Amino acid sequence: MFAIMEAARLEALHVAQDPATGLRAIIAIHSTKLGPALGGCRYLAYPDDVSALRDAVRLAQGMSYKAALAGLDQGGGKAVIIRPPHVENRGVLFEAFGRFIETLKGQYITAVDSGTSSADMDCIAQYTRHVTSTTSAGDPSPHTAMGVFAGIRATAQARLGSDDLEGLRVAVQGLGHVGYALAEQLHAAGAELLVSDLDAGQVRLAVEQFGAQPVAPEALLSTPCDILAPCGLGGVLNAQTVGQLHCAAVAGAANTQLASVEIADELEARGILYAPDYVINSGGLIYVALKHRGEELPAITAHLSRIGIRLTEIFAHAQADKRSPARVADYLAERLLYGT
Ligand code: NAD
Repeated sequence: MFAIMEAARLEALHVAQDPATGLRAIIAIHSTKLGPALGGCRYLAYPDDVSALRDAVRLAQGMSYKAALAGLDQGGGKAVIIRPPHVENRGVLFEAFGRFIETLKGQYITAVDSGTSSADMDCIAQYTRHVTSTTSAGDPSPHTAMGVFAGIRATAQARLGSDDLEGLRVAVQGLGHVGYALAEQLHAAGAELLVSDLDAGQVRLAVEQFGAQPVAPEALLSTPCDILAPCGLGGVLNAQTVGQLHCAAVAGAANTQLASVEIADELEARGILYAPDYVINSGGLIYVALKHRGEELPAITAHLSRIGIRLTEIFAHAQADKRSPARVADYLAERLLYGT
C-alpha cells in the first residue's frame, strides 16, 4: 500500500467500512497544497481491493494535476465506493459515505463520477457540506463539453492553422453526457460529425439531430478525420491503437486517454497533436469547484474559456521544446504541485 502511495506522491489515504449499510470506501487525497482535495466518487464493482485502491490513487493524482493546470485553488482527491453485488438501500449507503467524508473536516470534497448520480450526492449532502454536483448544483457535463469545445478550437488553430470548425471532420467516440453535448456544439459550428457509441440509440439520435455519420465502435479510431475526440472510456490511445489513427489531432473529453506517456511521444512522432486530456476536460471540475464556492455562471464561463488559452500555451511550449504536449502539461503541473 505504501509503495503505491509513494509512487504517486499521495498525501493521505482514508478507508472506511460499515457492515450496516454495505459501505466499503476508499478516499485518496493526493495533494492539498493548492487547496482542499476535490474529486469525484466512483461506485463500481472491482475484481479486488487492490484494484480499487490503485484506481483511487491514480485518479486522485490526476485530479491534482487537473486542478493545478485549471488554475484552481484546489487539490486533488478521489473516492471509490466498492459496489456490493446486492445493496439493500442505496440511499443509506451514500449517507454513510457522507458521514465518512465529514470526518475528514473538509480536506476532501466529493462529486459525481462513474456510477454515481446527483441523487447520490443529495444523500451525501445530508451529512456533510463537502459535496458538489448535487441536484441543486447541476450536472457538470455540459460545462465539460463547453471546455472540450474551446479546446478543440485551440487544437485546430495549433495543428490546422485555423479555429474555424466549419467543414472539419470530427470523430466523436462516445455520445454520453459529454460526447452528445459536444457533438451538438460541433454541429452548430459547422463540423462534419462521425460518431460511434455502444448504445445504438444515442447514435441514431446524433444522426437524426446533427446529420452525423455513424461509424461502428471498432472502426472509429481508424476512420480518417481531422480531429478525433475520445469521449468514452479511458485507455483508448495504446500500443495497439496508436498506429491505426488517421487524424491530425486528438482532442476529447475522456479521462486517462493515454495508456502511458510514451504513447504521447508516438503521437508526436506521427505528427498527431494531442490535447492533454486533463487540461481539455477540466470544464466540469472548474464548474463544480467554482459553484461550490458560490460563484455565479458568468465567472464560471469566463474561467472555462481559459481552457483554450491554456492549451495554446502548452502547444507552443511543446513545439519550442520539441516535446509532446502531454509531457509539457505534466511538467507544468508538477512545477505547481512540487516546485520541481
Ligand atoms: P457517459 O457514461 O455519460 O458516456 C460515455 C459514453 O461512451 C456512453 O454512451 C458509452 O456507451 C460510450 N462508450 C463507451 N465505450 C465506448 C466505445 N468503445 N466506443 C464507443 N462508445 C463508447 O460518460 P460522460 O460523463 O459523458 O464522460 C465521458 C468521458 O469523459 C469519461 O471518460 C469521463 O471520465 C470523462 N469526463 C467526464 C466529465 C463529465 O463532466 N461528465 C468530466 C471530465 C471527464
